[in-house]
Amino acid sequence: MSHLSRPLSLVEKLKQNTVQEFINKFLWSKSNNAPLVVELDPTTACNLACHDCISANLLNQGGIDNDRLLLLAQEFADHGVRAVVLIGGGEPMAHPKFGDLVRSLHACGIKVGVTTNGTLIGRYLTECAEMTNWLRVSVDAGSEEVFADFRPHASGKSQFNLVIENMKELINKKTGLVGYSFLLLSKRDKDGSLLRTNAIDIEKAARLAKTIGCDYFELKPAFDMMHFLQRQESAVVDLVNRNLKAIHDLADENFKIIAPLTLEDALNGIGTQIKSYNRCLTAELRTVITPSGAYVCPYHRGNLNMRIGDIAKISLEELWKGERRSKVMERVDPSKHCTFHCIRHESNLLLESMASGEVVDVVSDFDLFI
Ligand code: SF4
Repeated sequence: MSHLSRPLSLVEKLKQNTVQEFINKFLWSKSNNAPLVVELDPTTACNLACHDCISANLLNQGGIDNDRLLLLAQEFADHGVRAVVLIGGGEPMAHPKFGDLVRSLHACGIKVGVTTNGTLIGRYLTECAEMTNWLRVSVDAGSEEVFADFRPHASGKSQFNLVIENMKELINKKTGLVGYSFLLLSKRDKDGSLLRTNAIDIEKAARLAKTIGCDYFELKPAFDMMHFLQRQESAVVDLVNRNLKAIHDLADENFKIIAPLTLEDALNGIGTQIKSYNRCLTAELRTVITPSGAYVCPYHRGNLNMRIGDIAKISLEELWKGERRSKVMERVDPSKHCTFHCIRHESNLLLESMASGEVVDVVSDFDLFI
């Protein structure tokens, strides 16, 4: 897999000037009143009914109140939040105030990233094209048939052509990056035997991503409901490797093919990731805010033991400095609670080294989505 790009290193991002200043604040004086980055789920509503949705137990339970949602941007900006990812237990664009939310974040100088299923981009073309730093569409297919199988719409009608047309329109006007995301999915019978996999579509999808002008194609492994990497049958591993070989030459300076390390671990059958530390310093830099409350991190979204407060009832500062969050942060122990693969494991290792006195070479800001 050596021909593939890795996602921009999260560890390198921690060395940026703004991030280092922030880290020094919380490590030595705890004087920050908010995280640097927020993952925000505006709503749990979703118009697709995807097989094996990792958020299935969180879906369709309402959204953040319209008025409260639109007050968040100023509050975030006032307390030093620099970047917001609009994501979800649901589809962020299904919130009726999505467009106003993006506008208010942008007007407050906050950087905006969006992950979406792509079906509703047409409603918010201007906001998506002109006010986001990046937008990643979860397509998980390269053809209408595979899309209809793995990402069915409530109406029963495949949304594949709509999603691709939406992406083309966006790419024509975009000012930020647009990515085509492909999550490796399989269907099994009740005995666990493999029935079908979307891996048959990897090459088609990557070629389509390049043809329509995406900046990158990202292939990601699937996780189970408990966030552990799903084991892949050897037939799927072979198929993935054959497809990766076939798309190798598509990568150039304008189009990246990205595969996270977790894909390699999934293909190699490595199911767990052992942590040697007993606190999560990453959760001091970023958090996730959802309609059901705020949580330590996206992996623990919906886990009541990891719920640090509720933005519907209190301010961001009250949430961040509150007793509830302080107790949860004392309790969270990655060596026990996070034995699955965490994308920010390496970030935690660097933060622990810094807490022990390691000084890093600071670089200029290049991407605050840490
Ligand atoms: S180590 Fe655990 S608590 Fe920290 S970000 Fe990863 S999954 Fe979340």
